[in-house]
Amino acid sequence: MHILAVLIKTHPVSSYVRSDGTPVSSYLKGDYCKEKWGKADYWGPRLKDNKSSRPWKRQEEELVLKLLSEMPEWLQLQINAIYRKDKSEIIGNSASANVRERTIAFYNIFFKSKDGKQIISHELSHILYQSLSPKDLLEFKDASGWTVEVKDSKIFESPPKKVIKSDSTHSYEEDFANNLEIYLKSKNQFKKFNSKTYNFLIKGFLYEIYYLINFYLELLPNPSYWVAKTSAKF
Ligand SMILES: [Zn+2]
Repeated sequence: MHILAVLIKTHPVSSYVRSDGTPVSSYLKGDYCKEKWGKADYWGPRLKDNKSSRPWKRQEEELVLKLLSEMPEWLQLQINAIYRKDKSEIIGNSASANVRERTIAFYNIFFKSKDGKQIISHELSHILYQSLSPKDLLEFKDASGWTVEVKDSKIFESPPKKVIKSDSTHSYEEDFANNLEIYLKSKNQFKKFNSKTYNFLIKGFLYEIYYLINFYLELLPNPSYWVAKTSAKF
């Protein structure tokens, strides 16, 4: 029950008008879209504009909705807005997540990338990281290979000697997002890289987070759903 503090109660959005006053094109709310991509009625209204973003083009919206529909259930998180922006302050960055505001931005180069699915799963994982309990975080750090040393009453934390991506050494959060990204890309490849982290990820806590979020949003009626899900292989 540790994540309750971060939950914000909301209700499904039934209609949506962009910040500049224009309504979302009808196809985004239409049956066509809902049939074509699961959860399009959830994600569609979250593709928004603001003064620092640029308007979405229809094919860009379609690409993002398609990729989001391919995410596992436990990554279909509560997001406040998804923006289309020109470029990141960090050169070569194709997307970024603002975990405090629970928003994601996609930049020009994202739409030229072949790794869209991986990029989206990475950014969503940054947001998921905020829901980890201290116990989950400790288990993750240990499995991934982070070490803690106390010297002269000072605490030194060192990144794993073998990291899944070079920027994993920057922070636990970056390491977590990189681990989930590669896990979702290829579970076999990931298991070979680090079976401890693999075992941590498959043990069901991701579904626990998913279940709790949805339960408190009143989208899931009873705990038997979670029991069924956690016993399923994923
Ligand atoms: Zn990242």
